[in-house]
Amino acid sequence: MANVLVIAEARAGDLRKVALEAVTAARTLAAQSGGGDVHVLLAGGAGIGAKADALAQHGADKVLVLEHDGFALNNPEALTATIAQQLQGGAYAYGVFSATSHGRDLSARVAARLGVGLAPDLTGFAVEGSAVVGQHPINNGKVVATLALSGAPALLSVRPAAFQPVPDARPLAIQAISSAVDPSASRVKVVELKQGNTDKIDLGDAPVVVAGGRGLKAAEHFKLCDDLAEAFGNAAVGATRAVTDDGWRPHSDQIGQTGRNVSPDLYIAVGISGAIQHLAGMRTSRTIVAINKDKDAPIFKIADYGIVGDVFDVMPALTAAVKAAKAS
Ligand SMILES: Cc1cc2nc3c(=O)[nH]c(=O)nc-3n(C[C@H](O)[C@H](O)[C@H](O)COP(=O)(O)OP(=O)(O)OC[C@H]3O[C@@H](n4cnc5c(N)ncnc54)[C@H](O)[C@@H]3O)c2cc1C
Repeated sequence: MANVLVIAEARAGDLRKVALEAVTAARTLAAQSGGGDVHVLLAGGAGIGAKADALAQHGADKVLVLEHDGFALNNPEALTATIAQQLQGGAYAYGVFSATSHGRDLSARVAARLGVGLAPDLTGFAVEGSAVVGQHPINNGKVVATLALSGAPALLSVRPAAFQPVPDARPLAIQAISSAVDPSASRVKVVELKQGNTDKIDLGDAPVVVAGGRGLKAAEHFKLCDDLAEAFGNAAVGATRAVTDDGWRPHSDQIGQTGRNVSPDLYIAVGISGAIQHLAGMRTSRTIVAINKDKDAPIFKIADYGIVGDVFDVMPALTAAVKAAKAS
């Protein structure tokens, strides 16, 4: 029997999908520990409490809502203190974070504050006796390390998209909590949050990712990726570092070791060679389709489906086929 505290990630007043994934992971953790409650800490500015219902719909027994203007933008110091305070009382056996850049920062701070163990960026886990045994990809995803985490509270973070949110409706129970410290006294002040294109689905949340590489030859040819993404309707466009370094796409679109980690249902690699640093950010995708005119390109080694061809021929045909399939 073990209670779990999930740290829900919200941005600009909205819950991120990773928050629901973390709740699902926490429900599994509680079930494998012989039962227990899942509580979720949700911090944000005015109105954030309205997002608690989505958490209850996915298995949160209680949502601890910290609604304060000081948390409208990220406030890592005050949030660390508040999470640590909640975890310190002995009520929770586990703390679950999302392994996003925000969650990685917070989880490491909380682990250091409490002097407890953290198993980061897990793609799976099982409770074995008094330990959680988790899988953590290392060496650009070529090796999967098995980590045994013990102690209490034990902290872990789950890789985005490694756990799909599972609806598991519970009655909505909200408890208002306060910050452990004065949020305005933080030494780190986040003064502005610059949103990317809010009309577009976030790379980390998209079920389909169409990623382009240098094989597209020029920035304007990314229209081929944009068109295919639009035809799917639920896709985001990503890029390799070669592309972002050349300024064809913003750095925020970069996937890989020094970019974003994505794990969509479908990943379409367009004119991408498959360098190990790129694979590090996408190899856990469920289905990988690669389009490359070089039949020996390394990307084909991890692709489920390979199309040997010129992107300028294949992409318009693929987009037309997706549109036709959607229309039928
Ligand atoms: C420390 C470090 C960190 C890095 N981090 C990252 C990272 O986070 N993400 C990342 O992506 N890279 C990263 N890189 C760079 C990485 O090593 C590769 O250089 C990069 O991924 C290559 O990008 P690419 O596949 O677009 O280009 P290329 O390797 O040049 O491949 C282009 C591909 O397009 C194909 N092609 C060409 N024309 C066509 C056509 N008309 N039709 C079909 N196919 C065509 C070619 O056959 C080729 O396979 C990093 C490198 C280092 C050293």
